[in-house]
Amino acid sequence: MRKIVIANWKMNPQSQKEAEVLFRMIAKGKNFKKVDVVVCPPILYIEKLKKISSKIVLGAQNVFYEKKGPFTGEISAPMLEGMGVKYVIVGHSERRAKGETNLDINKKIKSALSSGLIPIVCVGEIIRDGNHEYFNVIKTQIEESLSGLNKSVLPKLIIAYEPVWALSTTLPRKDATPLDSQEMSIFIKKIISDKFGIKTAMPRIIYGGSVDDKNCGELGALVGGASLNADKFLRIINIAENK
Ligand code: PGA
Repeated sequence: MRKIVIANWKMNPQSQKEAEVLFRMIAKGKNFKKVDVVVCPPILYIEKLKKISSKIVLGAQNVFYEKKGPFTGEISAPMLEGMGVKYVIVGHSERRAKGETNLDINKKIKSALSSGLIPIVCVGEIIRDGNHEYFNVIKTQIEESLSGLNKSVLPKLIIAYEPVWALSTTLPRKDATPLDSQEMSIFIKKIISDKFGIKTAMPRIIYGGSVDDKNCGELGALVGGASLNADKFLRIINIAENK
């Protein structure tokens, strides 16, 4: 399976100009042969960025699940698709913290898929408790977010395991070890095969949480802070190419 490295720029950089400079620097990196590279900038930068390079695929950081209508401030999956967006992050912990539920995420995944977008579904526990309750947190997130999907669409999905305690902006934070993310990746596959059957083709599972050029591991990555630095981001891609 091809690896994927995804930049989540969040609400950065502050101007269209800076976004173009950063994007150009990333696009100047040598050809990525084995890794799909996706950049998810703030949506208003997309139109200009897509003219700079087709080497990098563009993603959005959110989508609304209705197709049209009285939903002030929202953007639909067909609108994103019409802009040339291919991927969309759903269920990021920063949105869950503002009240987004697994049911919302489930509707967003279905809407994204029906417009041909690839959902990057974020799951992750806020803390690692001693009783291992965090496994149940992930189980519920996966089961409810993927509820009602036909198993044939699962290989189109990307699941990003992003433990909130390991994000670069969480205080105090801790580093997740490669074992933490590998163990969770196996656990996620088990939940999916329990739910959809053992012969189910799996989504790609990637890791996010303070990924930089020093700790990027075997799985693909969803990169926040380090993706705002072109050199660091290119080094992460390079490491993924050579692993
Ligand atoms: P981080 O963010 O790499 O800065 O921890 C990742 C994310 O929130 O998607």
